[in-house]
Amino acid sequence: MNDAIVITQRDTVFMKDVDAQSSQKVSACYQCGNCTAGCPASFVYDMQANQIMRGVQLGLKEAVLNCRSLWMCLSCSTCSLRCPNSIDVAAVMETLRHMARRQNRITVPNVEKFWHSFLDTVRVCGRTYEIGVMALYILRSLRVFTDLDLAPEVLKKNKLPFMPHVVQNGGAAAIGRIMRRYKERAEREGVRP
Ligand code: SF4
Ligand code: SF4
Repeated sequence: MNDAIVITQRDTVFMKDVDAQSSQKVSACYQCGNCTAGCPASFVYDMQANQIMRGVQLGLKEAVLNCRSLWMCLSCSTCSLRCPNSIDVAAVMETLRHMARRQNRITVPNVEKFWHSFLDTVRVCGRTYEIGVMALYILRSLRVFTDLDLAPEVLKKNKLPFMPHVVQNGGAAAIGRIMRRYKERAEREGVRP
């Protein structure tokens, strides 16, 4: 965790952009710290949830968009539920993650590799295919032995079916088409799909 936030560059429109894209009012945050206190991922964060909110208020775009925490966030929404000001902190985190990604600031690349692996299986099967996700992630990240110790327990609980469950009656193809259309639109608009 950082001891202090060094102000290197202020971007006065940053908070307005974050508010508009997340439909939240970050200025309402009064730094009670409830979001951070309940965050199950805080132990791996380099900038805590309340510090990120403060960073947005101060316009610390560089520090916020370059922090690793955006990529380690589990999107569990505990922070949102705990906020006394009803700020959907998880939505702010997601907005910031997308902003960072669009600007090619991917500080934990393996997380993005996992996303792609997950989405590739959804594109083909219409839903996730866990073994496929694992295989694609290993190929992309070269982390062959990651979490291998968990395999026996997961297999015992039948959570890793060998065959994919493809969505029937044209559902998988329809989902594939939706994802392709989104990708084409993003490419037309010049944003990272
Ligand atoms: S959504 Fe992210 S920031 Fe919020 S509590 Fe969960 S892991 Fe932490
Ligand atoms: S819980 Fe809400 S008000 Fe408190 S620090 Fe987090 S975002 Fe700010």
